[in-house]
Amino acid sequence: MLSRRQQQCLKGIGIRQWLGRSVSGSNSEVTQLPEAVPQEQIEVIEQALPEKPVIISAPVKLDSWDNITQSIHQCQACELARSCTQKVPGVGNQQAGLMIIGEGPGHEEDLKGEPFVGRSGQLLDKMLMAIGISRSQVFITNIVKCRPPGNRDPHIDEVKACESFIQAQIKHIAPRVILAVGRISAHHLLNCTTPVGKLIDQIHHLPGSDIPLKVTYHPAYLLRNPSAKSIVWRDLKNLHKMLNR
Ligand code: SF4
Repeated sequence: MLSRRQQQCLKGIGIRQWLGRSVSGSNSEVTQLPEAVPQEQIEVIEQALPEKPVIISAPVKLDSWDNITQSIHQCQACELARSCTQKVPGVGNQQAGLMIIGEGPGHEEDLKGEPFVGRSGQLLDKMLMAIGISRSQVFITNIVKCRPPGNRDPHIDEVKACESFIQAQIKHIAPRVILAVGRISAHHLLNCTTPVGKLIDQIHHLPGSDIPLKVTYHPAYLLRNPSAKSIVWRDLKNLHKMLNR
């Protein structure tokens, strides 16, 4: 039997595999090694081919802001590193009282290298301005720093691979309040699966810390469901009070 790797080797060097004829008469690939290419030769070919990219774990030395940011840019700890245009570590004030955490970069964020740009970002900016906060006063980032292909939800192994970065960013900034934006962020930060609608209107705490954590709908959800804006507005006013205590 030819392994997939062996089949790729043969294809890569232009050796076509034998074609057999199925019962129905159509051609199909056979899995027997052609006699003209002995096993030893396949092994030599395999050794000569470039190795598959090595996936390394996220670096553990995240003891300064520069280290964290540099490590994010160098990270290859999950598959998202291969499909994104660039890393999106986050933007804003390292001494921010409010840290806003979304789920992952979208198409425009991936191209610009900045979280929450485009229509969702503009709406987030307006939401913040409504309680007298500018983007430059907060720190905005995401649970995963690379864009999931097609804007799909990040997989659990990708979230886990990226976890050390968000934890390091939270530790460094030490915000007075965290705003988890959207389901993925809320569920990961609170380690729960409760629907966002039930998490809103409460004050949570980041597990293992005394940092208050509020949950709100993602601006992209609000763009699709404008009726939810009144709920968010009520919540933002509570957030404003928390920040001004
Ligand atoms: Fe690394 Fe996070 Fe990007 Fe995965 S999503 S490659 S863990 S920075």
